Amino acid sequence: MKKMAASSNSNIPVFEYKDINTKAFHVGSFRTAWLEKLKPDDYSYEDKDEETQDAEIANEIGVTRETLEELKSICSIDSLRCHSEDEPPDTKLVPPDATLQTLIQRKRKQEYKGTLRIDKISRIDHYQNELESLAIGKKPADPDDLVPEGELILSINILYPALFDSFKSVRPHMTLQMLGSHKLVDLRDAICCISDLQVFGEFSNTPDIAPDFISKDHFKSAFFYFEGVFYNDMRYPECRDLSETTVEWAKTRDFPQFQKAKMEDTYFYDLKVKVGYPYLFCHQGDCEHVVIITDIRLAHKDDCLDWKLYPLLTHKHRVLTRKCAVCHVYIGRWLTTNDPFAPVDPCLFCGRCFQMLHYDTNGNKLGQFLAYPYVDPGAFN
Ligand SMILES: [Zn+2]
Ligand SMILES: [Zn+2]
Repeated sequence: MKKMAASSNSNIPVFEYKDINTKAFHVGSFRTAWLEKLKPDDYSYEDKDEETQDAEIANEIGVTRETLEELKSICSIDSLRCHSEDEPPDTKLVPPDATLQTLIQRKRKQEYKGTLRIDKISRIDHYQNELESLAIGKKPADPDDLVPEGELILSINILYPALFDSFKSVRPHMTLQMLGSHKLVDLRDAICCISDLQVFGEFSNTPDIAPDFISKDHFKSAFFYFEGVFYNDMRYPECRDLSETTVEWAKTRDFPQFQKAKMEDTYFYDLKVKVGYPYLFCHQGDCEHVVIITDIRLAHKDDCLDWKLYPLLTHKHRVLTRKCAVCHVYIGRWLTTNDPFAPVDPCLFCGRCFQMLHYDTNGNKLGQFLAYPYVDPGAFN
């Protein structure tokens, strides 16, 4: 009877399209189903002592303790050695006549790498790897900040909007890990997109006040769309319901009725979603990002267990930055046109070179030119 109930639970994810996305399920109920099925020490962060663990395994596979000991010694890593202990083989060297697929693949990769010309090791590549491994198994300094046992971790990819020509063929993304107890606004605040940092306007007469006009501070509306529901950010009085137009439009067409909810009232546990399915995040009016939940699972002791480090950034695409046309060192901050001091039109300047060339020591504008704040797509690198 119990088994029947479990198999008919619609909140246990099954594929809708194989290897692509699941059917929609309720995140919180999925967690509950796991917690009912598992024993608390199955998802505990504490290591069981070896004695108990051995006894359990022996019991589970139905062998005696002696047989288990024998199995342990036969299957131990030490017995996999092909060489004697004093002549360790060079693990980077793939034998020429390898038949194992993994070795064949590895050799191919090594050969391909040999054909690439790399002048220096990219700092960015280093950082990328570091980012992933930095948080593994991290424990908080204060035990109160420990991610509770049985908490859900969701992996979420946020794709960049197709703003740049160079992004036409690749769709770079950032990957964030969120906890089930996070609200949607926590995800919204963790998404960094350059359209939030844009400043619109011409500021050659008043360059100092340009930072007061950052889009993020002025246009705070945004929504997520998951499974027929628009989750609007309505935290601030100036927030507008961006989904209104779409919801009203759909009412006059042959569309199922869309629902609305507030981002700040919605926990991930409350969501009904499909894993692997493309959803939407929209901010700054029309900056649209595809959002894909790629994984939902219980927290494990090798996860980052410091609650304060979430939302946890685990992947970030990096883009080349454009440098100042004068010093070629700093990232461009200002774009000028009709500029007698500039070698090209339009021309990019860093903050320092822009100031030095275009204003006297008292901050008075020199000559006639137009200046627009520029936000480099690599500003988040
Ligand atoms: Zn955006
Ligand atoms: Zn410069």
